[in-house]
Amino acid sequence: MHEIKIAEDLSVIVLETAKKENLSKITKVNITFGQLIQIVPDIFRFAFDEAVKNSVAQEAELTIEVIPVMMKCINCGNDFQVVENRFSCNVCNSTDLEIIHGKELFIKSIEGE
Ligand SMILES: [Zn+2]
Repeated sequence: MHEIKIAEDLSVIVLETAKKENLSKITKVNITFGQLIQIVPDIFRFAFDEAVKNSVAQEAELTIEVIPVMMKCINCGNDFQVVENRFSCNVCNSTDLEIIHGKELFIKSIEGE
Protein backbone atom coordinates (compact mmCIF):
# COMPACT_ATOMS: atom_id res chain seq x y z
CA MET A 1 0.00 0.00 0.00
CA HIS A 2 2.69 2.51 -0.92
CA GLU A 3 0.00 4.41 -2.84
CA ILE A 4 -0.91 6.35 0.31
CA LYS A 5 2.63 7.62 0.89
CA ILE A 6 3.05 8.57 -2.77
CA ALA A 7 -0.37 10.27 -2.85
CA GLU A 8 0.52 12.27 0.25
CA ASP A 9 3.84 13.36 -1.23
CA LEU A 10 2.06 14.30 -4.43
CA SER A 11 -0.58 16.32 -2.61
CA VAL A 12 2.15 18.32 -0.86
CA ILE A 13 3.72 19.22 -4.20
CA VAL A 14 0.32 20.10 -5.69
CA LEU A 15 -0.60 22.36 -2.79
CA GLU A 16 2.81 24.04 -2.81
CA THR A 17 2.41 24.71 -6.51
CA ALA A 18 -1.05 26.17 -5.95
CA LYS A 19 0.39 28.54 -3.37
CA LYS A 20 3.31 29.55 -5.55
CA GLU A 21 1.11 30.15 -8.58
CA ASN A 22 -1.62 31.87 -6.55
CA LEU A 23 -4.27 29.40 -7.61
CA SER A 24 -7.51 29.42 -5.67
CA LYS A 25 -8.61 26.11 -7.10
CA ILE A 26 -6.83 23.15 -8.65
CA THR A 27 -8.95 21.63 -11.38
CA LYS A 28 -6.71 18.95 -12.80
CA VAL A 29 -3.59 17.04 -11.87
CA ASN A 30 -1.92 14.93 -14.54
CA ILE A 31 0.56 12.41 -13.33
CA THR A 32 2.74 9.89 -15.07
CA PHE A 33 4.24 6.80 -13.57
CA GLY A 34 6.17 3.82 -14.79
CA GLN A 35 4.64 0.38 -14.63
CA LEU A 36 7.38 -0.77 -12.22
CA ILE A 37 6.08 1.61 -9.56
CA GLN A 38 3.08 -0.74 -9.38
CA ILE A 39 0.43 1.66 -8.29
CA VAL A 40 -3.18 0.56 -8.21
CA PRO A 41 -4.88 3.60 -9.79
CA ASP A 42 -8.12 3.24 -7.79
CA ILE A 43 -6.28 3.11 -4.47
CA PHE A 44 -4.08 5.97 -5.56
CA ARG A 45 -7.08 8.10 -6.53
CA PHE A 46 -8.74 7.38 -3.21
CA ALA A 47 -5.58 8.19 -1.25
CA PHE A 48 -5.09 11.40 -3.20
CA ASP A 49 -8.70 12.49 -2.59
CA GLU A 50 -8.17 11.90 1.11
CA ALA A 51 -4.88 13.81 1.12
CA VAL A 52 -6.35 16.91 -0.52
CA LYS A 53 -9.58 17.01 1.45
CA ASN A 54 -10.52 20.54 2.53
CA SER A 55 -7.80 22.08 0.41
CA VAL A 56 -7.81 24.04 -2.85
CA ALA A 57 -7.27 20.74 -4.64
CA GLN A 58 -10.21 18.88 -3.19
CA GLU A 59 -12.13 18.92 -6.48
CA ALA A 60 -9.15 18.26 -8.68
CA GLU A 61 -9.53 15.61 -11.30
CA LEU A 62 -6.63 13.18 -11.30
CA THR A 63 -5.49 11.68 -14.56
CA ILE A 64 -2.98 8.89 -14.46
CA GLU A 65 -0.81 7.85 -17.36
CA VAL A 66 1.19 4.65 -17.12
CA ILE A 67 4.47 4.27 -19.01
CA PRO A 68 5.29 0.71 -20.08
CA VAL A 69 8.54 -0.83 -18.91
CA MET A 70 11.42 -0.47 -21.39
CA MET A 71 14.65 -2.36 -20.86
CA LYS A 72 18.01 -2.42 -22.54
CA CYS A 73 19.91 -5.66 -22.79
CA ILE A 74 23.48 -5.19 -21.54
CA ASN A 75 24.59 -8.33 -23.37
CA CYS A 76 23.45 -7.48 -26.92
CA GLY A 77 22.29 -3.86 -26.72
CA ASN A 78 18.69 -4.57 -27.70
CA ASP A 79 15.96 -2.22 -26.43
CA PHE A 80 12.62 -3.84 -25.75
CA GLN A 81 9.32 -3.39 -24.00
CA VAL A 82 8.60 -5.78 -21.17
CA VAL A 83 5.36 -7.67 -21.63
CA GLU A 84 3.71 -9.94 -19.09
CA ASN A 85 6.57 -9.41 -16.63
CA ARG A 86 9.04 -11.29 -18.82
CA PHE A 87 12.29 -9.75 -17.70
CA SER A 88 14.64 -11.27 -20.24
CA CYS A 89 15.95 -10.05 -23.59
CA ASN A 90 13.71 -11.04 -26.49
CA VAL A 91 16.75 -11.44 -28.76
CA CYS A 92 19.42 -13.25 -26.73
CA ASN A 93 17.42 -14.25 -23.63
CA SER A 94 19.91 -12.57 -21.29
CA THR A 95 18.59 -11.35 -17.96
CA ASP A 96 21.42 -8.83 -17.65
CA LEU A 97 19.22 -5.79 -18.19
CA GLU A 98 19.07 -2.10 -17.54
CA ILE A 99 15.84 -0.19 -16.97
CA ILE A 100 15.25 2.63 -19.48
CA HIS A 101 11.66 3.44 -18.54
CA GLY A 102 9.30 2.17 -15.91
CA LYS A 103 10.45 3.68 -12.64
CA GLU A 104 9.39 7.24 -13.31
CA LEU A 105 6.91 9.04 -11.17
CA PHE A 106 6.24 12.66 -11.85
CA ILE A 107 3.60 15.31 -12.20
CA LYS A 108 3.15 16.15 -15.85
CA SER A 109 0.99 19.20 -15.27
CA ILE A 110 -1.23 20.92 -12.77
CA GLU A 111 -4.18 22.98 -13.92
CA GLY A 112 -6.00 25.50 -11.86
CA GLU A 113 -7.51 28.92 -11.74
ZN1 LIG B 1 20.01 -9.32 -25.53
